[in-house]
Amino acid sequence: MTDSRPPVTTTDAGIPAPSDEHSLSVGPNGPLLLQDHYLIQKMAQFNRERVPERVVHAKGGGAHGYFEVTADVTPYTKAAFLSEVGRRTDVFIRFSTVAGELGSADTVRDPRGFAIKFYTEDGNYDLVGNNTPIFFVRDPSKFSDFIHSQKRRSDTHLRDNNMQWDFWTLSPESAHQVLILMSDRGTPRSWRNMNGYGSHTFMWVNEAHERFWVKYHFKTEQGIDNFTDAEAKAVVSVDPDFHLRDLASSIQRGDRPAWRLEVQIMPFADAATYRFNPFDLTKVWPHGDYPPITIGRMVLDRNPEDYFAEVEQAAFEPANLVPGIGSSPDKMLLGRLFSYPDTHRYRIGPNYLQLPINRPKVPVHSYNKDGAMRYQPSHDPVYAPNSYGGPRADTARYGEDAVWRADGDFVRAAYTPRRDDDDFGQAGSLYRDVMSDIDREHLVSNIVGHASQDVTSEVQRRVVEYWRQVDPDLGARVAKGLGTG
Ligand code: NDP
Repeated sequence: MTDSRPPVTTTDAGIPAPSDEHSLSVGPNGPLLLQDHYLIQKMAQFNRERVPERVVHAKGGGAHGYFEVTADVTPYTKAAFLSEVGRRTDVFIRFSTVAGELGSADTVRDPRGFAIKFYTEDGNYDLVGNNTPIFFVRDPSKFSDFIHSQKRRSDTHLRDNNMQWDFWTLSPESAHQVLILMSDRGTPRSWRNMNGYGSHTFMWVNEAHERFWVKYHFKTEQGIDNFTDAEAKAVVSVDPDFHLRDLASSIQRGDRPAWRLEVQIMPFADAATYRFNPFDLTKVWPHGDYPPITIGRMVLDRNPEDYFAEVEQAAFEPANLVPGIGSSPDKMLLGRLFSYPDTHRYRIGPNYLQLPINRPKVPVHSYNKDGAMRYQPSHDPVYAPNSYGGPRADTARYGEDAVWRADGDFVRAAYTPRRDDDDFGQAGSLYRDVMSDIDREHLVSNIVGHASQDVTSEVQRRVVEYWRQVDPDLGARVAKGLGTG
């Protein structure tokens, strides 16, 4: 006969606990005793249940799944996980909003994070993207300023539309991204109904050491579907965790969301002479110039078992690049290579890569040792070079080949201007050539609604000018809506 009794409660050291209900006291009514280690462990552990929330992308949800290669990309990259059609790699993805705190509502207007960890045979590859193909700024020195303008004021602790429009209208490179944010794509119906973009330009290198520039687009197989502004606001009051619930319940009922991976490939030499800087994160590569090719499919099929262990402690970093994939002269990407691992060391601790969700599914042979919460043993010798059989880098096989030539004086300057390097052109073509009449109508009312709330008349004047430069018709409609026209 099987024992149907529940297991005995224990301390975290595995020692059987004396009671689930009563602390140790001197007589039933007496004072509590310091030697009640079980009570003290419970209270002390509880006080330490939270780690600092992410300074951006705090609220999110995640799922496990796989990525499968569907086309031969070996002419472009030697990345092992992309090396043959049909090859599958385990992935973990985290979706998120950007500006809100851990308990904030899912359906607010915001870009959405779309961060993927591929557990490859050459270590973990992280593609830390968003649901937009571009970004608000192109130089990392403006990143914290941008985020400060989106979060809470120092004095009132309130978010402030005036601060947001003040920053945006003084940063014209933001127009393309703000256009998408203010469109209905700023309020996706679910995480399943949005695309994910690597956004940055990356480098691919093949076995012959030939280099290419690449952009990634994960296209939703569920179809794009967005809330209107009014619908998104209504859902906030009904279910602040709407997106989290939608993803978990869809996977639970066996409805597995999937995305098709398309890439755009630019020959290495084209970058030098292309009509605008292809590393500028505020611009897309028009499909007419570099047509997308479908190379894979990602499917999410398993919910996390422990939200904290798997989602809250998941640490994605654009610096995790595997052989065959490299970075590029995109200044935002180069800044992120530092800032992501830095925030993980602060938020989770220096050994965050040893946690089950973050650790690679291949052996680690690094020369790093010690630090808070290390539990994987380091092995002697703990230095290189050594004569005791420690790991050795295979430079002939893995030497740096995702490189580009750089030369020049040290300067603090914008990218060297090119013919089509303006801030408003691509936003204008999205508004005029891609959006439908309904998209444009909603865009105007979303902008007007947002810029009507606590925005000064001086900043509103700049808002109109900003959109007029994107498109005169858009500027006129915003002016009319704000009553400044
Ligand atoms: P295309 O007509 O070839 O592509 C337009 C792209 O826009 C498609 O990828 C489409 O893909 C996406 N799109 C459609 N509706 C919207 C919308 N309301 N908001 C945001 N994106 C939308 O044109 P081009 O490649 O020449 O690009 C024209 C403009 O389209 C660009 O200036 C840019 O603003 C926008 N765009 C371009 C992308 C690119 O990588 N080239 C990617 C996304 C947007 P889907 O509906 O599947 O997202």
